[in-house]
Amino acid sequence: MAPRSPSAACPCGSGRTFKRCCLRLHQGQPATTAEALMRSRYAAYVVGAVDYIIATTDPEGPLARADREIWATEIRLFSAHTRFEKLEIREATTLDQDHAEVLFFAKLSRDGEDVSFSERSSFVRRAGRWLYESGQVTPHAT
Ligand SMILES: [Zn+2]
Repeated sequence: MAPRSPSAACPCGSGRTFKRCCLRLHQGQPATTAEALMRSRYAAYVVGAVDYIIATTDPEGPLARADREIWATEIRLFSAHTRFEKLEIREATTLDQDHAEVLFFAKLSRDGEDVSFSERSSFVRRAGRWLYESGQVTPHAT
């Protein structure tokens, strides 16, 4: 977790600058697609934008937590102790107007140990805003 210059490369790996990519979403612009939301959440973990992670998790989904303070602390710790090396979007599928899935690979390490994983994430759009609903994680060997 480190402060990131708005003109640096976006942590999501889009090739755009942070300010022209995920930072705009962190500052309140709605994600136009589930994939854009996914990217912005990854970038939020990289920069430690804890409130954004919480705000973009479906409050009616299985991952919403009752105790916001504990939740925020866990996100902060994960963010601070993880090295975010790369995000690869493998597949983005629109199921219907308000439901989508994104398959991604996150290359991560913690204390020099590879903790990369793949996940198939489900997204739901409520009141016009995409939210992260749930995910099926597969640990990744490489
Ligand atoms: Zn980005």
